[in-house]
Amino acid sequence: MTEQHFGPVTQWLSGMPKAELHLHIDGSLRAPRLLQLAAKHSVSLPYSSVAEVEAAYDFSDLQSFLDLYYLGASVLRDQEDFYLLMKDYLEVCRVQNIVHCEIMVEPQTYLPQGVELAVVLEGFDRAIAEAKSDWGQSVGLILSFLRHLPEADCIAMLKAADPYREHFCAIGLASAERDFPPANFQALYREAAERGYALTAHAGEEGPPSFIRDAQQLLSVTRIDHGVRAVEDEDLLNQLAADRVPLTVCPLSNVRLCVYENMSEHRIFDLLDRGLCVTVSSDDPAYFGGDLLENFAALESDLAMTKDQALLLVRNSFEAAFLPIAEKIALDDRLQDYLARNP
Ligand SMILES: [Zn+2]
Repeated sequence: MTEQHFGPVTQWLSGMPKAELHLHIDGSLRAPRLLQLAAKHSVSLPYSSVAEVEAAYDFSDLQSFLDLYYLGASVLRDQEDFYLLMKDYLEVCRVQNIVHCEIMVEPQTYLPQGVELAVVLEGFDRAIAEAKSDWGQSVGLILSFLRHLPEADCIAMLKAADPYREHFCAIGLASAERDFPPANFQALYREAAERGYALTAHAGEEGPPSFIRDAQQLLSVTRIDHGVRAVEDEDLLNQLAADRVPLTVCPLSNVRLCVYENMSEHRIFDLLDRGLCVTVSSDDPAYFGGDLLENFAALESDLAMTKDQALLLVRNSFEAAFLPIAEKIALDDRLQDYLARNP
């Protein structure tokens, strides 16, 4: 869906200041850039054109997506590659008025290619500094771990990141969920808490609702990535609503990865109506068919999202951000400004 085909609510949202809290930077690597970097580094891929790459985005589940995702990330090798990757995504933020973003960085993904965290961050830092000075972009980075790898490897990466502690606002836990429960990562989260990181984790996407409870109780997370399967557990819904635990819901991702067969079955507004702090994000926009506004557009076209619902989702994105209260208030002031001009 292109911008001129957005419905009236999404058009209203397009100029509104928003936050995006669930975005894997590798998942923003679009096909043309993927092919360009593969050619630059002589990485052989089973695709030779943008159309062939995009034809491969017909996933049957989370694992079939992850196989392609890690293949894509293998073309990222030097500082310039990471600069371009970050620059491309921050340009989307500028165009879509995503004034604050929290981006998951997964250094373990680059280890098989021998790329060190210092190289990754050097490239990212340059792009972030430009976006801050050019248009005042606000950016948080989340140090995200791959749960299909042993906990000891994740702890080793956490320690390797100690010299870069100030680059990250939080840690996260991503990749294949079902066979790698939160209980496996308690020492990792204890170590991260000792270092003062905010804590989030993917839970209740392909895994059961009990993983959401475990992420809160065993890992002490204060935010849940996805969490949509909470709808299956009445007690859990009540607790998440009472405690205002944010869920970073990614509608297009959920449909592409077959959590729901189609968007009309998505339960996001049941969660919102129950009083949960639901937010909207794009997860891996290059792979799932759209950036943040395209996710809102799908909610408008398939679930008849109203202006009130849209505004609540945006307000929640500020409430759920890992930001000091003064910065949240400043974001809310910008929102009030926009609403005064665009009621
Ligand atoms: Zn994710």
